[in-house]
Amino acid sequence: MIFLYLLLSTYPWPIRPFDTAHGVSATLEDARATRDAQGRIIRYRFHRGIDIPADSGTAVFSIYSGRVRYTTHSDGIYVGEYWYIHLTNRVEENSQVTGILDTTNTSPTKIGDVEVDHLHFQIGPSGGPYSNPLNEDGGLVNYSDNGNPIVYSLDFWRSGSEGNTATQVHSPLWGKIDIRAECQDRQTSGGVNTTLGIYKVKWYVRSIGMNPSVSYHPKDCIEFSQVEPPRNGDDVLLIYDRHNYSASSPFKYWVTNVIKNNDVVDEYWNTKLRIGEAWDGTDAKINGEAVLPDGRYRVWVLAYDIENNGGDTLARHGAEDEDVILDNFVPYVESVVVIEVGNTKYFGYYELTGNKNGKKPLDMRRCFCRMWAYGERSKGIKIYPAGHQHQSGRRK
Ligand SMILES: [Zn+2]
Repeated sequence: MIFLYLLLSTYPWPIRPFDTAHGVSATLEDARATRDAQGRIIRYRFHRGIDIPADSGTAVFSIYSGRVRYTTHSDGIYVGEYWYIHLTNRVEENSQVTGILDTTNTSPTKIGDVEVDHLHFQIGPSGGPYSNPLNEDGGLVNYSDNGNPIVYSLDFWRSGSEGNTATQVHSPLWGKIDIRAECQDRQTSGGVNTTLGIYKVKWYVRSIGMNPSVSYHPKDCIEFSQVEPPRNGDDVLLIYDRHNYSASSPFKYWVTNVIKNNDVVDEYWNTKLRIGEAWDGTDAKINGEAVLPDGRYRVWVLAYDIENNGGDTLARHGAEDEDVILDNFVPYVESVVVIEVGNTKYFGYYELTGNKNGKKPLDMRRCFCRMWAYGERSKGIKIYPAGHQHQSGRRK
């Protein structure tokens, strides 16, 4: 029997048939929890490999030849960087086994049997980082996923809502926002339909009815290509919403956070960001210098599986949107014209910084005196530029 795995740059499944796709019932970085005897979660963690559903007693084989090592839990072995977990009848520790890839004239060595209902399979050196078995080295042979990811919904939270106190916010939005999206991937490998975690998420914002239109990103935030233990629970809770954690993954992702070099960075969407600034840069003071001036916007969350299905905003496969109003800025005096008996007496433009914007200087004191004379005595000067829609005037 001749295998073409190396030529195909893929590798065989560790259960029979080796070269036919099997189901996948859990993916890398699915959310997991370790519980105490009372059922309380004591540790949040990421899943370090994939689960391949199989009946109890299904024979398991090593992909590569090598020496067998036992995992610290009494149900797993690893050969090199390939891990096979939830086994019974394990082959003897330190024995030499023949892997599926070295079986031109011989049979591979059975390394154990599936104990309950699935084989856990992971790839990586002891201590990690662990690679995604679905795309490492070309992935498992004939793995295919024709199901589209689904973004069920997205919502908005005050930045910092990953912690114990989550504060949901609704349009109009202002300040720093965490976006949370509920998404899953429909997997079809081996004809086994499962609904699991997504592989990749992006988000972006685009104006509605603004001319010229403005947009922000798309930003790649989450991508589960590798997992690097040891992870403390905080990392997991920067991806998955702790308030919805139950027995298994909440599938509610904080999509404004970013996985960088196997670390999760607690970021946010600063709706008030000034043009030219990085995501955590300085706020704008006025609409004119904001990346996203006050107005109507559509926020999109795009989800992808490992085969890049999804992110299709037209068919809405792995894409969902939410319309919001951004309202960050109080109105300010942009220009003042004082007219006395039909003659323009003062005429000037001001930026918020007090720069005169290359126009004729304006004596604001005289100007205000004039306004007071017309009864504008309240605390603020209330002048709105023509065509500027005054919103709440709430201070932020
Ligand atoms: Zn597993």
